[in-house]
Amino acid sequence: MSVATELQTRIPTSTQLFIPELVYFEPDALEYPKGQRIHAWATEQKLPIHITKSHNRITNLPGETELEKYRIAKRTLVVGIRKTLKFEQSKPSAEYAIPIATGCMAHCHYCYLQTTLGAKPYLRIYVNTDDIMDAAQKYIDERIPETTRFEAACTSDPVGLEHISGSLKELIEFMADQDYGRLRFVTKFHHVDPLLQLKHNGHTRIRFSVNADYVIRNFEPGTSSFSERIEAAGRIAKAGYPLGFIIAPIIWHEGWQDGYAQLLTKLQATLPKDATTDLTFELIQHRFTKTAKRVIEQRYPKTKLEMDEAKRKYKWGKYGQGKYVYPDEQANALRTFITEQIFTKFPQASIDYFT
Ligand code: SF4
Repeated sequence: MSVATELQTRIPTSTQLFIPELVYFEPDALEYPKGQRIHAWATEQKLPIHITKSHNRITNLPGETELEKYRIAKRTLVVGIRKTLKFEQSKPSAEYAIPIATGCMAHCHYCYLQTTLGAKPYLRIYVNTDDIMDAAQKYIDERIPETTRFEAACTSDPVGLEHISGSLKELIEFMADQDYGRLRFVTKFHHVDPLLQLKHNGHTRIRFSVNADYVIRNFEPGTSSFSERIEAAGRIAKAGYPLGFIIAPIIWHEGWQDGYAQLLTKLQATLPKDATTDLTFELIQHRFTKTAKRVIEQRYPKTKLEMDEAKRKYKWGKYGQGKYVYPDEQANALRTFITEQIFTKFPQASIDYFT
């Protein structure tokens, strides 16, 4: 059976839009139109609504065990005001991370938010997007005549929240008018409908995170299926957005060459031709820190994710905490093989980086 036929005959169960189980509001968030809109939505959905003094301090989540609390936190939405308007750097994909949301409802075992969000894995939407865009404007102006790129998916998967927040819409339309500003974000969700009709002027690059079937099957619960993501990528390209794919994390597993070759073959077979003219790839090998390993083993005790320090190379980190990456020989094999696959199947595409 050809790959295309196989994809057509496999009837995908559609990944539903995220509906939280609990919603918290900071009182001041209700002064903003976005806060009021989300409050009206949560009321209509008959969701339990609570008030919290700060989006940084939700301490009374239900759950008997740590694991239960974690699972509930991933279904809890907190609506608040972003106070820190100093943007973090976001190399190598962009100059800055633009903070519109924090946290994610999916359960990718390898996700670095496990550690960066620590004890606060609940989801946060910030209602003061005007302040965030004002800050972005300053960052853009400072760097003129250089172009400044903002990554909107550093701390969240914003597409998974767009039906509630509408924040990507605001950023995309804001960036459409910026001669020196560009937006980019990556997603594992296919819920792109709210983005298709927007004025973007080609200033926003939308990337989909894809991977070998083994990785998606074993480590990405709660995300849209591969075929849903590719179908959404086709619609994004049709809407005129620059498109890209992030293959991350690239995982060395038994049969990895077949796995990654099949991934590129499936992409080639299913992506509309006109979606391949201005295509970028970003390649990120799997890495973990000691802290991440401990947290992942607690939260996903049955995970098959290989995190054996003895099989890895230690890479010193900026803040003392180093990362375990693949040894050079394996990293080179992964990079060479996947790069060749990309250029064979998408000769017009560019590879932004391998890290
Ligand atoms: S979809 Fe992205 S942000 Fe969400 S859990 Fe998976 S890796 Fe993390």
